[in-house]
Amino acid sequence: MIRADLVIYGARQLVTLADVTVPPGPRRGHDLAELSVIEQGALAARDGKIVWIGPADALPRQVSQLSGCGVFDATGHVVTPGLVDPHTHLVFARGRAVEFSQRAAGKSYSEIAQAGGGIARSVADLRAGAFDELCRNAGKIASRMLTYGTTTAEAKSGYGLDLEHELKMLRAIRTVDSSHAIDLVPTALPAHTIPVEYRSRPSDYVDLVCHEILPAVAREKLAVFNDVFVESGAFSLAWAERIQSAAASLGFGLRFHVDQLSPMKGTELAVRLGAISADHLDFISDDGIRCLADSTTIGVLIPGVSYFLDCTQRPPARRMIEAGVAVALATDCNPGSNMCESMTQTMNQACVLYRMSPEEALTAATVNAAWSLQRADRIGSLTVGKQCDCVIWDTDDYRDLSYHYGVNLAVHVIKNGMRAAP
Ligand SMILES: [Zn+2]
Repeated sequence: MIRADLVIYGARQLVTLADVTVPPGPRRGHDLAELSVIEQGALAARDGKIVWIGPADALPRQVSQLSGCGVFDATGHVVTPGLVDPHTHLVFARGRAVEFSQRAAGKSYSEIAQAGGGIARSVADLRAGAFDELCRNAGKIASRMLTYGTTTAEAKSGYGLDLEHELKMLRAIRTVDSSHAIDLVPTALPAHTIPVEYRSRPSDYVDLVCHEILPAVAREKLAVFNDVFVESGAFSLAWAERIQSAAASLGFGLRFHVDQLSPMKGTELAVRLGAISADHLDFISDDGIRCLADSTTIGVLIPGVSYFLDCTQRPPARRMIEAGVAVALATDCNPGSNMCESMTQTMNQACVLYRMSPEEALTAATVNAAWSLQRADRIGSLTVGKQCDCVIWDTDDYRDLSYHYGVNLAVHVIKNGMRAAP
């Protein structure tokens, strides 16, 4: 008999996303739609880890409940792995609703940026913001993510853009991670944009990133990954390569914002440097698709930004999936280009704007997102030995997570075997 301190029983659909390949890897092509659903399923956990999973009628014979065992009746409901959001900027000092109004009145994102808005606005706000205030704001966003079913999220710096404030942001991420049930995976992004004070000598800023900021982040073990925004007006391919080579030598995994606003062949660079993820990809080239498909780099798609900025150019998600790219989905939650914490909203946008299926969207928001954070050994699917991070949803059809949008269907969000939200 297996002893458990948490039991979920009666799930109409228990979506496990158990591995379909040997050895396990991120899902590609047709495997993206293979959810490995147990109809009338049950799950048991102990000390935060899954110890048993199977048909509900076998549960009483195979699992005994320890005293104080948490029991969740999921009758008629869907259970999925906790959602994983692999690209967020959740630490910022203030929202930018003013710019949202300006865009509604006809101004473009780049016009607003040129007038001192955009990332530069968030940098000025961040530098002026008190540490406790930053943690409070980020904590609220983290709580909201959890309420909407996200149990692990990546979190980037990138509004500090100098040594002191990049460290301040990453320390805020660490503080929120340790004080909230959600797990945050920290990424350094000092190469988000060239700060105003370095506009006339940008290569000096690249030196600062390579020689001071990244070594300090590494010394304090404040980040797992380093990210660079490759774009005209941000960082060239050559600068990105310098920065990421320095980051790799310090032990960081590499992530990239690439081919978002113009075709830069950034995807090809990301693959060549062995990046864990290449994100956005609105302007990815045919060569970029081919080399991404042949690589271990995950393509992280962000339909919320396509929606929020009303972009006509969108990543060719169908061609990417057919070519064999392992795709994941992320919110890119940030005050400028997508003020949204919800991964189910993102899944809806992926289906509507990118023509992904609800099955592909769910895989991309769980197991593939976990691979893109190098945590697929622990999260992203429901199998024995993994963390008991899961969500019980108020529906009997997993497709509703993408289809029924603008509401929160999460009834219980369970993190490490404990009810964490709502
Ligand atoms: Zn971003």
